[in-house]
Amino acid sequence: SLEKPTVQETMVKIMVLGTSGVGKSQIFNQLTKSKFNPYSQPTAGIDFSSYSIKIEAEKIIKAQIIDTSGLEAFRSVTQQYWGLAHGAIVVYDITNADSFTDVKRWVRDFRAKHSPNSVKSNPSSPNPFTSRSTTPTPPSPLPNSSSNSPAKKKPDPIIMIIGNKCDLLEEREVRTEDAQAYALVNDFLFMETSASENLNVVMAFNILISQVYYNVV
Ligand code: GDP
Ligand code: MG
Repeated sequence: SLEKPTVQETMVKIMVLGTSGVGKSQIFNQLTKSKFNPYSQPTAGIDFSSYSIKIEAEKIIKAQIIDTSGLEAFRSVTQQYWGLAHGAIVVYDITNADSFTDVKRWVRDFRAKHSPNSVKSNPSSPNPFTSRSTTPTPPSPLPNSSSNSPAKKKPDPIIMIIGNKCDLLEEREVRTEDAQAYALVNDFLFMETSASENLNVVMAFNILISQVYYNVV
């Protein structure tokens, strides 16, 4: 008898981090809804969405994208998700040099959540990803997923630095070369995007998600 080929779906978790106002929510909006809102308001807490890419005929990578608030008041809420992420996009605004300085702090804080000492393994605390009924997590088909082999060392997450608002060239404060050099020495991916013009947004996520798939998951 003819069997229907089974589609292998792998779930990856990607955080979107960065200082308030750099355009995280609009990048997220473009990626998941092909929309841009010029009157975007600060995100309160966390927004979840999913985005899938097909890498081979029967292989789909489904990314859970977690858009967090860059506001200090929500830091403790959003940080509980960091340890679970396979990758992160750290966004700055090319027209705001301070937001680029902040990238180093976001990266440092995010990485700290991944170090063995700081990641709490408390089995009684609910996994915020699996406990949300709106974003069900199917069991990972991969043998080294953290849930079934807790003894294995967690691989370092893949980090991509994004310089957003590259449509505002006249107001640029952060040179492409400077951000590129920073990314290169730290082994981060790098891309400039425009959420308003929908430039490089999809490409950035496709690159990060496939890197995560091949290196981390
Ligand atoms: P968040 O706090 O990082 O989530 O930032 P938002 O996505 O809410 O965006 C903050 C502001 O920047 C809003 O007024 C957006 O319309 C604007 N914005 C976001 N992305 C871009 C972009 O690529 N180009 C321009 N010109 N404005 C943008
Ligand atoms: Mg936001």
